[in-house]
Amino acid sequence: MSAKIIDGKKVAARVRDEVAAAVAEMKEKHNYTPGLATVLVGEDPASATYVRSKQRMCERLGIRSVGHKLPADASQEEVESLVSKLNADPEINGILVQLPLPKHIDEEAVLNSIDLEKDVDGFHPVNIGRLAMKGRDPLFIPCTPAGCMELLADAGVDTSGAEAVIVGRSNIVGLPMAMLLQKANATVTICHSRTKDLNEHLKRADIVVAAIGWAEMIKGNMLKPGVAVIDVGINRVDDDTRERGYRLVGDVEYDSAAEVAGAITPVPGGVGPMTIAMLMRNTFRAAEIAVAKQ
Ligand code: NAP
Repeated sequence: MSAKIIDGKKVAARVRDEVAAAVAEMKEKHNYTPGLATVLVGEDPASATYVRSKQRMCERLGIRSVGHKLPADASQEEVESLVSKLNADPEINGILVQLPLPKHIDEEAVLNSIDLEKDVDGFHPVNIGRLAMKGRDPLFIPCTPAGCMELLADAGVDTSGAEAVIVGRSNIVGLPMAMLLQKANATVTICHSRTKDLNEHLKRADIVVAAIGWAEMIKGNMLKPGVAVIDVGINRVDDDTRERGYRLVGDVEYDSAAEVAGAITPVPGGVGPMTIAMLMRNTFRAAEIAVAKQ
């Protein structure tokens, strides 16, 4: 079997086009421009790159972006007081605090301090709690898992009654992914580093979501024929044939998995492009909430 490739670049482009059109319409109808504030604490180069690409995407889609930088030794009070200033700013709809924060900062307290209606990352405990509860809906869904759901939908994967195995239980990917699939009526198993027999779980999965951070850990022979594979992992492996000396691979060994799977996301070009696209969608949604209150 040769798997259908789930093209994250194409799906992300469609989501971005939808957001850009909705932003233009909002400007015309309501004279209102959505605004996203980014908060970067410290000098971590990867975090700075992520923030820059989010800001660039805002510009492309007609969303105003305002960047805030605090030094690596900023105090808890300084970070929270910036968030509370942004909470009160009527021109800011979304607040994105780039994680990870420096170790001396209480991340939970900072995320708790973000206004629920501006929590475009979807990491506020109330939003996560609503995601977990039956009959409740969060205002915002965390961007990477939301992107994975969009990819499954685009690939025509029926989640209802499906056996879904999520490998990884992080707050930003694995856990919300499990809750989303459960809300979409899948039967969900969450695997992690203490899982006794990962193969046993993978063998019966109709949907596998890999969010481990371990290069090519899941091989084709561990999967059930026809499975839909969403590979969230982004790992660098040495590669002398590349100018930069490395290449990016997922948590799933693509070539062997593609032989067995019914559908699969490549790395790069699968889940990666979806995260920022979903952030843009969440920011627009935050602006809609603000406009509705005018
Ligand atoms: P994380 O916080 O490090 O979580 C990794 C999870 O994998 C943990 O739950 C861990 O279990 C589990 N795990 C570790 N070893 C395992 C094993 N041998 N068997 C089964 N489970 C195992 O990572 P994350 O932030 O969720 O990110 C996961 C990957 O996704 C990384 O490669 C990251 O770069 C990538 N990522 C991509 C995007 C994107 O936009 N595409 C966004 C976010 C993350 P324990 O809980 O027991 O430790």
